[in-house]
Amino acid sequence: MKFNILTLFPDMFKGVLEESIIGRAEKKGILSFNYVNIRDFTNDKHGRVDDYAYGGGTGLVMAVQPIYDAWKSVCGEKKKFTVYMSPQGKPLNQQLVQQLSSYDELVIICGHYEGIDERVIEEVVDMEVSIGDYVLTGGEIPAMAMIDAVSRLVPGVLPGEEAYSEESHYNGLLEYPNYTRPETILGKKVPDVLLSGHHKNIEKWKRKQSLFRTWLKRPDLLRKVKLSKEDENFVKKLKYKRRNRVQSAVWNE
Ligand code: SAM
Repeated sequence: MKFNILTLFPDMFKGVLEESIIGRAEKKGILSFNYVNIRDFTNDKHGRVDDYAYGGGTGLVMAVQPIYDAWKSVCGEKKKFTVYMSPQGKPLNQQLVQQLSSYDELVIICGHYEGIDERVIEEVVDMEVSIGDYVLTGGEIPAMAMIDAVSRLVPGVLPGEEAYSEESHYNGLLEYPNYTRPETILGKKVPDVLLSGHHKNIEKWKRKQSLFRTWLKRPDLLRKVKLSKEDENFVKKLKYKRRNRVQSAVWNE
């Protein structure tokens, strides 16, 4: 999958996207990043890319010409799906991440300062995406978060589908707790079932833990997910128990 990133600060991406899993996937050729510096496209003789906002206001607005020409240099005559990172956008969640991972190529526009001239959005943007209801100084960090989440779903980036399909949010629930060696540390032991080698029981335990944690930490998610009869009964049982007692009830099942 190819990401074309239109930004005033391409260097911000390098440390993040060159490291770890994403960096390795790029080296293998599974992912590719094309950084396009919007400043390289300005026609302004002083290299300016922004100007004062019509109607007043404090910040500077990124102008149409450099962004549009940078976008044209990537798309030519063939339009590519274009995302503008914006606090006004569609909230980024796992469902949207999945949708975006189905494209072979994306163009991502990162705003800065007061944002970008509205006419760029009207002309080239297919979707505005937000990483949350707060405002950052620029679209670079939101773009990196989105690219990282989307990249994990590109075949070959992780060892297999199981690597992400059991994780939080993939099926609408939070993930069960994880443990590694040693078996006992800080006076706490790994739950016996995980050491039992009994795969069916382990799967059952994981499912219940997943439901329990979602109920405890994100009950809003439980209201949206479709559950089996067995899951529903388990959640009903949880509702009747006091939270501190439920934990031990779940561990012992
Ligand atoms: N004036 C804009 C507004 O109120 O909607 C905010 C501009 S913000 C200071 C500068 C840039 O940061 C935006 O153009 C956008 O690209 C990016 N940005 C800020 N917060 C964001 C968020 N929550 N999600 C995605 N991008 C964001």
